[in-house]
Amino acid sequence: MARILIVEDEAKIARFVELELTHEGHEIDKAADGRAGVDAALSEDYDLILLDVLLPQLNGLEVLRRIRRESTVPVIMLTARDAVMDKVAGLDAGADDYITKPFAIEELLARIRVALKRRETASSSATAAPEPAHHVLSIRGVTLDVERHEVKVGDDPIELTNREFEVLKALMENRNVVMTRDRLAHVACGYDFVGETNIIDVYIRHLRSKIDDRHGIKLITTVRGVGYVIRED
Ligand code: CA
Repeated sequence: MARILIVEDEAKIARFVELELTHEGHEIDKAADGRAGVDAALSEDYDLILLDVLLPQLNGLEVLRRIRRESTVPVIMLTARDAVMDKVAGLDAGADDYITKPFAIEELLARIRVALKRRETASSSATAAPEPAHHVLSIRGVTLDVERHEVKVGDDPIELTNREFEVLKALMENRNVVMTRDRLAHVACGYDFVGETNIIDVYIRHLRSKIDDRHGIKLITTVRGVGYVIRED
């Protein structure tokens, strides 16, 4: 369970997200304008903040700047579709992640889990001795070793470029979650990526030729008009 603040002036969206997060067991506060958002963020101890960019009083970027002067609380920005400048500015201003409206609630929940987990890891590694984590993802005979940067199908090693590796890792980490091209580009190419996201189609094609075609499996599924997913059987 986490304490989450939603800063969003569109009451319907705020209410919908609140219901979903409450259902997940989180405790929710809401603020309907930028100024109320800053006040709440700095006076209460939240585990995470969902912050809309377009807000009355103060816009989301200004809200974020003011929060960042005093707090490292994870912030996920809600941005309009194709507002690339908002995303870049938000990440520059210290946002941990962003999600594009309209979003699927499953994707938002997945992002929230990642952000909360990252915070947990960060705070536990700050207090405890660093653990030699050996992080291996495995789905349907395909294994990906994060530290060693190795991918295998069965015992057969697969040579991947850095970006192919990052795309595959993102899909394996978010198994059963449909990842948009935008999201994959962001993970594989970095926060500053502002180019054409159909570059992702090229990486997927390479991954399929190196993994699927060579080993007679169908690992990555295309979700038409949305993106890609690796589903567990
Ligand atoms: Ca808004």
